[in-house]
Amino acid sequence: MRRKWYDGSMKLKIWDQSATWEESEKHWEEGALSAAQQQSIQKLSQLPKMVGITPDTAKFLKWKAFRWMLTKDVDQKVLPQFWKHPFKYGWRYLKSLFYKKGYTRKGDFFLYGFQTLEQFEKSLKNREHLFVLGFSYCHKPFECPSGRFTSECIHDADHPVCRQCFIGKSVHASKEENTILLFIPTVHYIAGKILEIVHANPKKKIIFLITACEMTLEMFSDWGNMVGIQGVGVRLDGRICNTLKAFELSEQGIKPGLTVVLDPAQKQMLEWIRIRRET
Ligand code: SF4
Repeated sequence: MRRKWYDGSMKLKIWDQSATWEESEKHWEEGALSAAQQQSIQKLSQLPKMVGITPDTAKFLKWKAFRWMLTKDVDQKVLPQFWKHPFKYGWRYLKSLFYKKGYTRKGDFFLYGFQTLEQFEKSLKNREHLFVLGFSYCHKPFECPSGRFTSECIHDADHPVCRQCFIGKSVHASKEENTILLFIPTVHYIAGKILEIVHANPKKKIIFLITACEMTLEMFSDWGNMVGIQGVGVRLDGRICNTLKAFELSEQGIKPGLTVVLDPAQKQMLEWIRIRRET
């Protein structure tokens, strides 16, 4: 099964069976250099020094997350799915609340259901597991042809913006047959999608690799544990949301700043995508 963006006029496929990973990556990067000459895109000139969560916002954060999930589910993406297994989800959620942290942190990586990155890597190599690869909209380029605050991404390798975009590179490097891609505009969108995947595949283990701000990774860790999925959240840097107000605006698509996956984290993410591709 081919992804729709390789059909029709968009045939260019960089990572294919006839080339090695190294050749494909070199091909991508050469194209990215030419694309930058064709169209420059806005980037952060320097990384702002921002705390992950402001001290005021950090107070009662679990309660704030609970209230947000319940009161802002206007499209009914999450709650109807919760009621499919209320006792199971309710019990897991309460259990997670008892832990001070719903994750284990290793630098820029927040581990859910794993204690070490090696455990995550081992899980990636299991073909039986479903792999969800997700990207928060706030690190899409301002010039993104699909728009930033959307769940769309055309990742057209011939498009000069996509060719300079880390999301575009990651998507091309991932293997279509064993990866579920999500482009995430809101917390309710990703929660609803994950619940849909879990309910459609009750016998499968779901592992994820998702980019998000530190505040989101902290706020919704109990909800991830409630669903019972395991994976890694990659911390975004740059113009992140570190107050509840900024988060609320961002959830409505008001996000004038750009976030970024730092270079070492990008390298590690691509390595995991490679592991999964070669599984
Ligand atoms: S690859 Fe990047 S620029 Fe292109 S549509 Fe996707 S997010 Fe937007």
